[in-house]
Amino acid sequence: MSGITLQTVRKEFETGEEHIVAVDDVDLEIRDGEFLVLVGPSGCGKTTTLRCIAGLEDVTDGTIAFGDDDVTDLRARERDVAMVFQNYALYPHMNVRENIGMGLKLSSSMTSAEIDAKVEDVAELLGIEPLLAKKPKELSGGQQQRVALGRAIVRDPEAFLMDEPLSNLDAKLRAQMRTELQTLQHDLDVTTVYVTHDQTEAMAMGDRIAIMDGGELQQVGTAEEVYRTPVNEFVADFIGSPSINTFDATVEGATLHGPGGFEYTLDDPSPVEGHDTVRVGIRPEDMTLVDDGVAIETTVLEPMGNENFLYATMGEEELTLRVVPSARPSPGDTVDFAFDEDSLYLFDALTSEALK
Ligand code: ATP
Repeated sequence: MSGITLQTVRKEFETGEEHIVAVDDVDLEIRDGEFLVLVGPSGCGKTTTLRCIAGLEDVTDGTIAFGDDDVTDLRARERDVAMVFQNYALYPHMNVRENIGMGLKLSSSMTSAEIDAKVEDVAELLGIEPLLAKKPKELSGGQQQRVALGRAIVRDPEAFLMDEPLSNLDAKLRAQMRTELQTLQHDLDVTTVYVTHDQTEAMAMGDRIAIMDGGELQQVGTAEEVYRTPVNEFVADFIGSPSINTFDATVEGATLHGPGGFEYTLDDPSPVEGHDTVRVGIRPEDMTLVDDGVAIETTVLEPMGNENFLYATMGEEELTLRVVPSARPSPGDTVDFAFDEDSLYLFDALTSEALK
C-alpha cells in the first residue's frame, strides 16, 4: 500500500427526526507507513471517519483509496485493514493463542503449525508469550490490550485502524503503552490511523495530527505545526494544556487594547491592518512574570513541583500562566506579566482564522 487517500468524504445519518452530517467533505492524505492521529472533541466525527476507512460505514459521497486502488465500494472484509477498538472485543471462551490466531484460521490457507509459529512470533514481539494459554478474564487491562494488538498485527494488514485503544487503561499504563505502540508501529512500518479525543496523546504519538471539529477537518500537521501555527482559534484552543488564553482586543493603529489594563503595541502591525477588533491568544508558558508589564490579579496558585500554574484575572478575563516554581504570589496579589511578540497569536474576530 502507499497510503490512504480520502477525497471529499461525506457521511450523513438520518435518524427519523434528525439529519446529521457526521463527516463533512473531508480531504485527507495519510502517507505510507505514517502514524496519523485523528483528534477532536466528542461527536466531531473521528470514529465515523475511521469506520468509513474501514468499510464499516458506506460513505454518502466522496472516495477512499488505498494506494492507487479505489476501495470506496469494497466491504470491510475486502479491505486489508485491521481494527483495534477501545473495548478489546476478545473472545472470552478462547485463550490468548486462539484469540490471536482466530483471524488467520478464518482468512488464510495457513496450516495450524504455521499459524502457531506466527502467533508465537507476535506474542514474543508484544511480550505476552507466557500468557498464550490464558483466557481474557485472567488478564489485566494492559495484557488484554496487547492481545487485541496481537490479533491485529498477526494478519500483516495493509493498515491499522485504532479507535481509542488505550482509553480503558490507567494513566501510567496508558503512557507506557503509548510509547510501546509507537515503537511497534515504526518497526512494523504499517500505515496507521489512530483516533483519540486526548490532545496530549495525539501530540505524543502522531507523526502528524489531523484535527476535526463539527465533522470538518480543521488542520493536518506535525505536533509542532499545529501547536505553533494553528490555522484558527479552535485548533489553538484544542491543542496545548493548559489551554491558550484568548481575549478580544480593539485595534488602534499598531496598538491592541484588551481587558483590564492590557495594552500592547505591535512591532509588526501588518496582521491586524484593516481590523477594528481581533482575538488575541497567549499560551500559558509564553507569559513570564516581570516587574513592569501587564498587571493581573492572582486568584489561585497551583504548585506542580517543577513549575507553578498561576490563575489570575485581567479585567473580566481569566488567565492561566505557567511560571517558575520560585514565583509564589498569594491570592489577591497583583503581578505583572510580559511576553514575546513572536509567541503572540492573533485571530480574526469574525471568522476565527489565524491572522499570522
Ligand atoms: P466520540 O469521541 O464521542 O466517540 P466522535 O468524534 O468519534 O465522538 P462520531 O462517533 O464519529 O464522533 O459521531 C459524529 C456524529 O455522528 C455525532 O453527532 C453522532 O451522534 C453521529 N452518529 C454517529 N454514528 C451514528 C449513527 N449510526 N446514526 C446516527 N448518528 C450517528
